[in-house]
Amino acid sequence: MPPVDPRVVVLAGVFGAVLGSFLNVCVYRWPRNESVVRPRSRCPGCGAPIAWYDNVPVLSWLLLRARCRRCGAPISVQYPLVELAVGVIWAGAAWWFGPSGAGLGAALLATIALGVALTDARHYLIPDEFSLGGLGLGLAVSFLPGGLTPVEAVVGAAAGFALLWVVKAAGDWALARGLIRGEELAQVLEAGETPTTLGMGDLKMMAMVGSFLGWRGVLITAFLGSLSGVLVFLPLLLARRRAPVPFGVFLAIGAVAALLFGDPLLQWYGALLMKGR
Ligand SMILES: [Zn+2]
Repeated sequence: MPPVDPRVVVLAGVFGAVLGSFLNVCVYRWPRNESVVRPRSRCPGCGAPIAWYDNVPVLSWLLLRARCRRCGAPISVQYPLVELAVGVIWAGAAWWFGPSGAGLGAALLATIALGVALTDARHYLIPDEFSLGGLGLGLAVSFLPGGLTPVEAVVGAAAGFALLWVVKAAGDWALARGLIRGEELAQVLEAGETPTTLGMGDLKMMAMVGSFLGWRGVLITAFLGSLSGVLVFLPLLLARRRAPVPFGVFLAIGAVAALLFGDPLLQWYGALLMKGR
């Protein structure tokens, strides 16, 4: 692979930081069913519209020392962190894959995964804009050279949806038969709600992941996502602290891990199988 022009990497990083600024708006407004186009961003403290020079990714937050220019209301550190993270994602994807379909797909998937993780952690929901919108992007990117083919993207999306549908169906069946019990379940039933193991948001999100990573990536994402979820929530369960599980957060972690380590992991597993014969 020829070395990537450093200017391309820098340009991708700057574009990523600007996209991160937009992602901040999406993460805040989509769960509230607000438009991300208008109104313009305003200070939550004094309501003043934020000027473009106070909205430069990362730099403005540093120059303003994390406070609104007019009223001095504090600005969350989440804003520059997300901008920085998406900048690093896009620079990293450009550096690793070069300007190609694979690079664009990796950058988009990691950006969407970050958005899903932030909204699911805070609101326990995955906006359709991320899952279905991301699915559309994944299918579109597959038409570019250097990544999945469109057929592989469609098969991956179907595999992602189907895999979690089976898990959900089995889990809900077990719930309905009373095979799963617990204090939390009793509360759900008391509230007159139908108990469920996985939300539709998780299913749509995995269809999105499949459109970027194909069916193998779906399996790795589900495996690594479940593993990281268990590692985080087992100590909580053992400590008898009840906490609802934002599964999308762990699927997002799994998807990024599959993106980074999917190929070496499959090679290692393949070698392991060969040895076992
Ligand atoms: Zn203000």
